[in-house]
Amino acid sequence: MTRVAIGIDLGGTDIKGGLVAEDGSIIQTYIKSTEAHLGGRKVVDRIGDLIQEILDSEGMQGRRDDLQGIGIGSPGLIDQEKGAITRPVNIPDWDYWINVREIFQDRFGLFTWADNDANVGALGEALFGKGKGHKVVLALTLGTGVGGGIVVNGEIFHGACGFAGELGHIMVNPSGPVCGCGNEGCLETYASASAIAKYAQDRIRVEHIPSILKDMARQNDGQVTSKMVYEAALKEDPVALQTVERAGIHLGIGIATFAVAFNPGIVCIGGGASKMGDMLLDHARKELEKRVFFHSHFATPITQAALGNEAGFVGAAGLALTSRS
Ligand SMILES: [Zn+2]
Repeated sequence: MTRVAIGIDLGGTDIKGGLVAEDGSIIQTYIKSTEAHLGGRKVVDRIGDLIQEILDSEGMQGRRDDLQGIGIGSPGLIDQEKGAITRPVNIPDWDYWINVREIFQDRFGLFTWADNDANVGALGEALFGKGKGHKVVLALTLGTGVGGGIVVNGEIFHGACGFAGELGHIMVNPSGPVCGCGNEGCLETYASASAIAKYAQDRIRVEHIPSILKDMARQNDGQVTSKMVYEAALKEDPVALQTVERAGIHLGIGIATFAVAFNPGIVCIGGGASKMGDMLLDHARKELEKRVFFHSHFATPITQAALGNEAGFVGAAGLALTSRS
């Protein structure tokens, strides 16, 4: 018997879901638009409809007895103990608690766990990705912001009230740019895909700096993206190279702090900007080595995450496969 679970990744645009086996392999996937404008209750109905589709799918045939339950990764505030969600970013009219555990228990007779999307992404990477076999795994997602998660012995570390793991908001420069959280110089303001794009954009505005990014941006309504920065850096564009270096160095400064605090076995970097691979991560590795004393003591490998777009729902399924009801 192979145990399986349903994993759901709730995003502002799409709800992704899948049936996942206990080794992390994906048996079936489904995707549905979130229709965020309809508000929280309707969005939860749509999650339920997607779960129903998975239950009716071919992949479910003969597996109902092996089904451990449902895991949901969501943005916003999560009450992990109750299985309730409120205020997910990008879904207006959801400023009240919805207990998804009760709703899906009633509708499907299946136990449901909910957790922060960055946390379940980290759990997925720890259980099934590059973190496999490590006691302490840190994961960072370089997207619009910088998401983070801490996994210890195969379980998400929540802290006292459920808010631990906000690794993107560790301060890497006390006089750095203002962050969305109200602090200044958070890791997120240097190493998120948005921060990378914004820094390059500001640099090419300074007229005398020659850069192919100017032409690339012109073909995209004047907007630089982190992908463009990567492509330009591959062509040795000086502005792009400097932008990647700046992001990588600050990533290394942040990881140096995590290294002394947690002594992780591995740090996994995912999300859009992580596609730059060693071009970005080598700067972080060098910076880490410079800053952490007794480096051999705190040896902290930094690696590109293995799970891609599926990390969210695979990690959510992992939550159902490793938690107890
Ligand atoms: Zn912040």
